Amino acid sequence: TRAYLAAMEKGRGLNAYVLETPDKALAMAEASDARIARGEFGPLEGIPLGVKDLFCTAGTRTTACSNILRNFVPTYESTVTSNLWRDGAVMLGKLNNDEFAMGSSNETSCFPTPVNPWRRQGANDTTPLVPGGSSGGSSAAVAAMLCAGATATDTGGSIRQPAALTGTVGIKPTYGRVSRWGIVAFASSLDQAGPIARDVMDAALMLRSFAGPDAKDTTCVDRAVPDYAAAVGKSIKDMTIGIPREYRIDGMPAEIQKLWDEGAQILKDAGANIVEISLPHTKYALPAYYIVAPAEASSNLARYDGVRYGLREPGKDIVELYEKTRAAGFGKEVRRRIMIGTYVLSAGYYDAYYVRAQQLRTLIKHDFEQAYASGVDAILTPSTPSAAFGIGEKGSADPVEMYLQDVFTVTVNMAGLPGIAVPAGLDNQGLPLGLQLIGRAFDEETLFSVASVIE
Ligand code: GLN
Repeated sequence: TRAYLAAMEKGRGLNAYVLETPDKALAMAEASDARIARGEFGPLEGIPLGVKDLFCTAGTRTTACSNILRNFVPTYESTVTSNLWRDGAVMLGKLNNDEFAMGSSNETSCFPTPVNPWRRQGANDTTPLVPGGSSGGSSAAVAAMLCAGATATDTGGSIRQPAALTGTVGIKPTYGRVSRWGIVAFASSLDQAGPIARDVMDAALMLRSFAGPDAKDTTCVDRAVPDYAAAVGKSIKDMTIGIPREYRIDGMPAEIQKLWDEGAQILKDAGANIVEISLPHTKYALPAYYIVAPAEASSNLARYDGVRYGLREPGKDIVELYEKTRAAGFGKEVRRRIMIGTYVLSAGYYDAYYVRAQQLRTLIKHDFEQAYASGVDAILTPSTPSAAFGIGEKGSADPVEMYLQDVFTVTVNMAGLPGIAVPAGLDNQGLPLGLQLIGRAFDEETLFSVASVIE
């Protein structure tokens, strides 16, 4: 714990942490030492972890990286973090993220943008790169060894995309595998928590600790959690891996295609059968996601009214108080999502947009079900359409440019399936690239087995 605290101090220029909690960390580490002295040894005993600032931590400021929650100190602890502490882990601090987890570069945070520890090689290129988003503080901290692992959340790709851009491992579990209780809500039917870790084994150990049934979240499924660590390194001989032809999108960089082909070859060499499959509704996933996610977000964010908690900007009456508080508290991207969300949910447009998007969601889910029914065990795709890009380089003129980062990851959230991003190589500028594996519902084990062959 002391070594990590020292590394965090040196690594402050990366803006990975928005709050360091050294006193809490040392107290937890001491308690851990005492347990070990008594012969008690939890599965994550003494392991120092970072926590995305979307997870409520009792007595420790939790902001969702929004000005509207800048001084919010929860009185309760999220189920995910309390499970980690139950198993002996130590909290180092709170990690940066996009405001309310909306973004793919961590540039919408109300705190300074975190920096990817990777740099483009050669030709004096010192452009600071984004660590991906929304879990950019988590990915930057894990990649720079400012924690042994980190919690993260994924609504449309926010665990897998930052993991891919920093050469780390991230898994979004099946919807319902992990409790959402005590996590600041973005889009409740899509949100899932998962780990970002240095390798597949660490991710397996972390997920095992915090997954599982929880009476406080009715969407959390009552199913025993398998021993994920046992799945790591298991043979994948005779497994069938699907390659979805619709993911070969126009304008895909040659190096991403090459990485994907090489990944398929590695799995083939390990004894898997590689088959081409079709997921015909893939092209609707991104537009449908950008209706469903803002719709749910606009409803979830209605609670930030300046009355119940968080920022309050006084007004002459209650309506002016709401308006002033929300105008001052929410950043530009969050306001954009609220406007899209309230529009698609409004009486005149509900059927044309929201209902249509939900219908498409069913078709997307059905595509996957058919692939798995035909005997496919897991699906291999790239994690992202590009390697890490420069801070300020994307999305400022056209937000859709940023939304395209999620083209390979949102389908998985729309279908509620598990997906893992695993580092698979470097691009021609020396930056990490990731491959994604998508599994059957509640079959994270297969993902751990197949990912450990690639890493
Ligand atoms: N980039 C996507 C968005 O902005 C996904 C974010 C996430 O998974 N939290 O909505």
